[in-house]
Amino acid sequence: MLMNNETLWDNFLDIICKKTNPVSFNTWFNNITLENVTDSKITIKVPYAMHKKVLSDNYYSLIEDAFMSLTGITYDIDFVLEEEINKDQNTEILNSNVEKEKKWESNLIESYTFDNFVVGDTNRFAKTAAVAVTEQPGKIYNPLFIYGKSGLGKTHLMHAIGNQIMRNTNLKVLYTTSDMFMNDFTGIAKSDGNNLEYANLFKEKYRNVDVLIIDDIQYLVGAEKTQQEFFHTFNALHQANKQIIISSDRSPDDLKKLEERLRSRFTWGLPVDIYPPDFDLRCRILKNKIKNLDIANLIEEDVIEYIANSCDNDVRYLEGAITRLCAYAAMTVPKKINMEFANEALKDYITKNIYNNGDIPSIQKAVSDYYNITIEELKSKKRSNKVAYPRMLAMYLARMLTDESFPRIGLEFGGRDHSTVIHACDKIEQDLKNNDQLKEVIKEIKNNITC
Ligand code: ADP
Ligand code: MG
Repeated sequence: MLMNNETLWDNFLDIICKKTNPVSFNTWFNNITLENVTDSKITIKVPYAMHKKVLSDNYYSLIEDAFMSLTGITYDIDFVLEEEINKDQNTEILNSNVEKEKKWESNLIESYTFDNFVVGDTNRFAKTAAVAVTEQPGKIYNPLFIYGKSGLGKTHLMHAIGNQIMRNTNLKVLYTTSDMFMNDFTGIAKSDGNNLEYANLFKEKYRNVDVLIIDDIQYLVGAEKTQQEFFHTFNALHQANKQIIISSDRSPDDLKKLEERLRSRFTWGLPVDIYPPDFDLRCRILKNKIKNLDIANLIEEDVIEYIANSCDNDVRYLEGAITRLCAYAAMTVPKKINMEFANEALKDYITKNIYNNGDIPSIQKAVSDYYNITIEELKSKKRSNKVAYPRMLAMYLARMLTDESFPRIGLEFGGRDHSTVIHACDKIEQDLKNNDQLKEVIKEIKNNITC
């Protein structure tokens, strides 16, 4: 299909508009233009250097695909600035300025990025808001207030925002915690003779930024003077349209002991909460953390699920389990990391093992709920298909998830012989080898086991 450049560009924008959210589209696509099209290359003119970076890092394949779908050609895409078209050499000076600005001490931890933040239903909203803020710092959602329990990724997200903004712009980002802020502030009182100078330094540090990230604001509770100072810092930055990002272990409403005027300001922008990860997200986080480690190829799926099941409210804990597995693997150099290995490596760590001895009943309940049969039927002597397979599955899960012996499990299933249990476990293990659907069933049942 042949079309002129103008139509091509209009159609291209239509496609992109449909595939991006309005914030991204307005930020990155509204003010770019088609500069040139050759046989193999499309040149797009962009207004700022950050467009080059963001478009090529985040949207390249989207752009490439859109042109491909319109023309059937996979073009190389080039982004240029006006001054580059005019062969203006000013860019070098600009770049060296960028370098200079980046020396700014931001306190950011580079390894916390959006890329390695695994997203699921419980944190998707927070992540989306965080990304939106990086695309228009100070313009939307100010302040961004992220809250949720400890270990759910608030600090990670905040650093990711800061890192992303630093990468895309020259803005000055400062990460701090309310403790650090308080220490700096109380330093003013201690600095005796140099009080004024110190106070100026303090102001310079906290008000001369474009993006202020302040972690764990709940620790300002009880520190009235520091709260007042933070109030003024907040106002100064907010009035100047500087982005403020705050985290807390509870919602603004629940920060009861914080000054009312601060609390109300925290709700001016967008409060977003992060919930504890569900089972699926816990598994994906674990896999993501493992994928670049030596143990990646050794670890069996069961082990991931076992760890994911052992804790439902703290990602830090999941990381701790992986660290232990690695340490133990380094010492013992196993051929594979299976349940036996994991049990041994984590026996002191997983203290709250939810599948301990008392839990055969909860496994039975989850299985019978899933198959819509009663627990009595599960334990009965009936051999109809309707109950026989669920029974074998429940025995298998009891063996995998509790420390119980075969005879003990047999007893719990209507006084069956231990050889019946062994047979059931073998059968399910065999089936699992080529039945992916069964794996899904097991996953879902495990998910529903409560104790
Ligand atoms: P919080 O500040 O909410 O207490 P952190 O941001 O310190 O939690 O997270 C604890 C650990 O868990 C960090 O190492 C972080 O990288 C990791 N983590 C939390 N959520 C995720 C996630 N969704 N994907 C990847 N890692 C995560
Ligand atoms: Mg934190």
